[in-house]
Parts: sequence; C-alpha cells; structure tokens
Amino acid sequence: MTRFSYDTAAQKVIFGAGDNKLLPGILDEFGWQRLFLCTSPHLRKNDSIDMILSSLGEKDVAVFDQTASHVPEAQVVEALAIARESACDVVIGLGGGSAIGLAKAVSYELSAGQPFKNASAGLAMPTIAIPTTYAGSEMTPLFGVTRQESEATKRKITKRDVRITPKVALYDPLLTLDLPPQLTASSGVNALAHCIEAVYSKTRNPLSTASALRGIKLISRALPVCVEDGQNLTARSELLEGAHLGGVALATVSMGIHHGTGHVLGGTAGVPHGVANCIVLPHAMHFNADAVPEQLAVIAEAFGVPRNGRSDYEMAIAAADLVREFIYQLDMPQQLREVGVEKVLMPRLARNLLLSKAVLNNPKPVASENQAIAFLEGMW
Ligand code: NAD
Repeated sequence: MTRFSYDTAAQKVIFGAGDNKLLPGILDEFGWQRLFLCTSPHLRKNDSIDMILSSLGEKDVAVFDQTASHVPEAQVVEALAIARESACDVVIGLGGGSAIGLAKAVSYELSAGQPFKNASAGLAMPTIAIPTTYAGSEMTPLFGVTRQESEATKRKITKRDVRITPKVALYDPLLTLDLPPQLTASSGVNALAHCIEAVYSKTRNPLSTASALRGIKLISRALPVCVEDGQNLTARSELLEGAHLGGVALATVSMGIHHGTGHVLGGTAGVPHGVANCIVLPHAMHFNADAVPEQLAVIAEAFGVPRNGRSDYEMAIAAADLVREFIYQLDMPQQLREVGVEKVLMPRLARNLLLSKAVLNNPKPVASENQAIAFLEGMW
C-alpha cells in the first residue's frame, strides 16, 4: 500500500522570459528594503548583475560577487561579514547552484540562534533565488559547503532544513542564454539526475514522481538543442522548466548514490558538480538496476524507449545505456581520469562515499569499502 510523507515550504515561484524585471515589485510586496546579493564573477561579465542592480533603483544593495564552485566555507564567513554589516533584510542568490547555495548558507548563519520552533514559520532571514543554470537549488531545502578539513583534505557538508528553502524563486530564461555549451550540458545533466534519482528515491511521493517524469521529458528534448544553439529561447525556457521540475522533485525526496558520489568527487577531488554528474549518472543507474528495475523502466519510457516485450530489468539497463549515450552526444567527459582524478585517490573517495547521507539513502546499499572502490574504479 502507498505510504508517503514530505515537508513543503511556502514559496512564491515566478517563471517567464523577461521576468527578472518583476524583482522590484516582489521586494515591495514583501517589504524588503536592504538587500545582500550573492553572485559570481561570470554574471558580472555578461551584465546580468548590472541588469538586476539597475532595476533596483534606490534600494540599499551590498554585493558579494566572488562565489566559487562548491561554496568554500571561508567564503561563507567572508560573505556573512558583509551581510551583517549591511543589516540586510533579504539575501538574494543570483547565479548557479553555488551562488544560490552561498545565499542559503548566509541566510542560515544569519538566522542561527533565532527561535525557530515551527518549521513552517520560515526563516527569519529570507532568500530570493534567481537561477542562471539548471542546478535546481532555488526549490530545495538544501545547501552544501566545502570544508577544508586539513591542508590536504576537503569535504562537502550538506544541510537539509525546510526553512532554508528560498522564499522566492524567480526564473527568467533570458538570464540563461549566455550559459556556455559545456556548462549548459553539465548543469542540464545535473537537472536530469535530480529527476532520475527522484523517480527511484526511497522517499519518493506522487508529486516528486510526476514532476520528475515530466522533467525528464522536457530535459531530454531541450538539452541537446540548447547545447547546439544557446540562443534558442524556446528550448532554454523548456530546459529551465525541466530544471524547475527537477528541483520540485529534489525538494521532497532523498537522493541516492549518484548525488552522494557527485558531492564526494566535488568536495574531495574538486571535480565540478555538473561534470561529476555526467560521469556518475549512467554508473549509478547500472548500480541500482537490480534494486529498482520498475522505476528505471519508467524512466526509460519517459525517454521514449519502447517496451517491445522487455522485462523491467532489461528496460532499466536500456535506460542506463541510453543516458550514457545521451551524455556522450553532449560531448561531456565520461571518465574520472579525463578530469584529472588520480587512481590513488580511490580509497579516500570510497571512505567518504560510505559517510555520505545520500549514499546511505540509496535504494541499494553499498555494502563495503571494496564495493565503493569497485563502483568508483568502474568510472575511472
Ligand atoms: P556553479 O554555480 O558552480 O556555476 C558554475 C559556473 O557557471 C560559475 O563559474 C558561474 O559563475 C557560471 N555561471 C552561472 N550562470 C552563468 C550564466 N548564465 N552565464 C555564464 N556563466 C554562468 O554551478 P552549478 O552547476 O549551477 O551548481 C553547482 C553547485 O550547486 C554545487 O555546489 C552543487 O552541490 C550545488 N547544488 C545544490 C543543489 C541544492 O539543492 N542545494 C542542487 C544542485 C546543485
């Protein structure tokens, strides 16, 4: 019998080409006056920051525009100091998952010590997320920060709390037109991975499954078009919608071995998040094929693979092979050695893999360090 439970956050979600212009009205609606903007250097170069700032007129805006990938903990400290000094009443994350993650981390720290007795009461320090990639963080109660544990070792720490979910998610496909092909491909595959791991998640629910399957349809159709022609606004809009649906799914379910491995590769080996997604996803699907064949078969169908009398397990393998080919066609790396990960790192990566909450939540358990090493070596 079906049984599920999940928390949702009350959010305002706005989606449409040109809708970045709605930001001043949103600020007025909520009565936010002093803003702290977290963003990254590329968005300075392509004028997105100036476009947002110029629409804000007289409002006080403090800016941190140096967000680095995977949100190093030192940057949270730096940004937090600016935010405190600015006495902001809202934190805006403009950019990819890292800039939005930094905004969430700052908001979380600013709110630490506040009396949150009731999760549905929301954060004392709200955030607005304006995504410019397909990472989906704008919809989720999650953020990750990379901690330097010693001179040589780093580890990504993730936090999940429904109060971290941005109060406003403002989607404007125009802000994604300049995303270069490689970043489009890698963050598009990240969105696809949210959908795929949501469908086979141990904590899946009717909303997450419906949202993820629609997301797979949109992303599989629009992503190759956007990589080929970044200025195609129709495809950009479709892909961003797919990323939104991936974020909706991700918000209410636990992820599995794919995401756990991605975080370990990012935090410990410095592999960019989207690139790690491209390498790991087919392996994660193969790994899980005998544990969740029915769910992977549905994923194959969402990609348009006909049944032709095949069993769920055969369809599950077909889904993994199809995703490998899909990523190959996007011209993305598919092996760890291609992105400079050294084989000697495998035992350390494997140990961190076994500590990952997402790996612990995978539908098929990773039974030992040796199994983790074998899984990683399979993608080396
Ligand atoms: P990113 O945020 O690290 O950005 C990658 C690069 O793209 C940066 O150099 C950035 O400046 C640039 N960029 C962003 N938008 C651009 C644009 N429109 N044009 C040109 N350049 C642009 O990468 P990402 O893939 O968006 O996010 C990855 C991070 O997000 C990881 O840390 C990951 O763990 C996290 N993440 C979090 C969640 C969540 O729910 N909390 C979900 C997915 C990913």
